[in-house]
Amino acid sequence: MLPNGRRLGPHLPLAAGMVRAADRAGAIGASAVQIFVDNPTSWRRRPALPDELPAFRNRLAARDITSISVHAPYLVNLATPDDDVWERSVELLASELRVAAAYGAAFVNVHTGSHRGAGAEAGISRIAEGLGRAVERAGETGDGVAVVLENGPGAGFGLGRSPGELGAIDRAAAVAGVPRHRLGFCLDTAHLWGAGYDVGTVEGVDELLELFDAQVGLDRLRLVHLNDSRSAMGAGADRHEHLGGGRIGTDGLARFLVHPALHGVAYIIEAPGMEEGWDVVNLARARDLAEGRPLAPLPPSAFQTRSARGRSAPPEPDAVASGS
Ligand SMILES: [Zn+2]
Ligand SMILES: [Zn+2]
Repeated sequence: MLPNGRRLGPHLPLAAGMVRAADRAGAIGASAVQIFVDNPTSWRRRPALPDELPAFRNRLAARDITSISVHAPYLVNLATPDDDVWERSVELLASELRVAAAYGAAFVNVHTGSHRGAGAEAGISRIAEGLGRAVERAGETGDGVAVVLENGPGAGFGLGRSPGELGAIDRAAAVAGVPRHRLGFCLDTAHLWGAGYDVGTVEGVDELLELFDAQVGLDRLRLVHLNDSRSAMGAGADRHEHLGGGRIGTDGLARFLVHPALHGVAYIIEAPGMEEGWDVVNLARARDLAEGRPLAPLPPSAFQTRSARGRSAPPEPDAVASGS
């Protein structure tokens, strides 16, 4: 929990075992988690729920980790003009909604998608229709779970790069019959930055959130993906960095954590090396930011090649996260 009572946690890798992951989330003081319920780069879903699921849920509940979000696979593209991909996307999203309910998750976070050259208007109506279909197809099982659309970094034909586009999608979804409580939104700070919003300053964040409020409504914001970025502002790129170690920097990220209108959101960190020990470092840094403490400098190992797994392990957490 953040000092202001808001929920914070990592994107939690489950590959090393679900119970182990739940224990790790507890050990690092998470009060929220985001997970993949299956391979995020595959259309195929496992036929049955994992055996470890009941124990996983119990461990999370015992640690008061009650904000659980599922991140849908990256393949889902509801905006596509390709009928086959669209149909598979709808089916996969419906499946994620049903499985999310079994995990006790309230949200399935999904990328807004790409219109692949068909134009924003066409893409938006495809998304709206796809959302309606997926929610309907999820049926009663998925009833308690809302789709949360994540803003895009503005690459290529990607939609949802601006509050205006997110608002257009929201209105089209309402027309397509998606119940309001089944659709929420996620703002990823690194994506905002990539899309050209200067969220590196308090004023920039306030301005962006005002715009979002006017176009969508801050009451619809469910998640903030709190990430720094290695890319230049407006580059349309999406390369996450440790909090305060990238180009967005501390002022803007801290503002997201304390902005008075965001008291109801959960903050999820998707920084590099979270499975290698950087999870505890970044959660501590978020707490420091929320309390207005200066961040300790990151060691050079924080920026080593990300492809070389296991080579970027942080030094002992206490040395980094002392908040001195
Ligand atoms: Zn995402
Ligand atoms: Zn994200």
